[in-house]
Amino acid sequence: KYLLAFTLFNSAFAHSADVHSPDSIKGTVLITGANRGLGFALSQHFIADGYKVIGTARKPEKAHELKALGAKVVQLDVTDDVSIEQMALTLKDTPIDIVVNNAGYIANLDRGFESFKNTSRRDFLLTYNVNAVGPFMVTRALLPNLMLSTSKVKKVVNISSHGGIVNRPKVNGIYSYDPTKTALNKITIDMSKDLQQFNIAVVALAPGHNKTDMGGENAKLEPEFSMGKAKEVIKGLSMQDTGTFVGYSGFSIKW
Ligand code: NDP
Repeated sequence: KYLLAFTLFNSAFAHSADVHSPDSIKGTVLITGANRGLGFALSQHFIADGYKVIGTARKPEKAHELKALGAKVVQLDVTDDVSIEQMALTLKDTPIDIVVNNAGYIANLDRGFESFKNTSRRDFLLTYNVNAVGPFMVTRALLPNLMLSTSKVKKVVNISSHGGIVNRPKVNGIYSYDPTKTALNKITIDMSKDLQQFNIAVVALAPGHNKTDMGGENAKLEPEFSMGKAKEVIKGLSMQDTGTFVGYSGFSIKW
């Protein structure tokens, strides 16, 4: 219901206000995994605010709702180097102000929680590949685009999770997922140091527990709500924030 209302509103807005003309756009945001869930909700908010959104999808031909928003849709599988290279080629010479590494994966949603006994090597490695290696490879491939941005501060936002906090009490059955977010957090800190010289702020952002395919229907937050807040937090980031971990409404989180 919400999604439909947003979609109709935004597609009407995109056409009437011509938010994609170079003069009127506030900036360009690339969001990975934008075809559903949090990436989709964040795309809606940025487009409604007057940004151009480049939304990536593994299957662009199926990303009808994302296209209806007015986003430019580009194919990307973050575990596939050829796909990453192709995306970079497609976007060559396109300035990008903000990269949101949102695409994420959790194993075994369909067969119950992972236990000490049943978590497999494949689950660990695939989840790590998508959630930790993916954001690094995508950010590196898009560095030329970030360098073309004329924004004072360029931004890379890695969508992390409270699950990545090392000292958080153990949540039963998430063996393969949580450590990928811990790794992503460390990668965030390291990239923030390397990219500081280019005025690129790199942060980890925890979106909260949301009602998506990954978060499940019992989650506390609606993506439309939390991503509206997150958009404002992302807009407000400065170089002082680089290398930090923030919540969707801007609260600071200890690693
Ligand atoms: P969903 O499962 O609803 O959506 C995941 C998105 O990631 C989809 O667009 C999916 O594409 C994409 N994706 C998965 N694997 C790949 C891949 N290999 N390459 C490219 N894209 C891929 O998840 P959410 O929207 O809930 O989660 C978004 C982010 O927020 C994730 O990083 C997640 O870890 C994080 N997060 C979510 C929480 C929640 O409660 N929902 C809580 C804390 C963190 P496709 O449609 O093709 O599968």
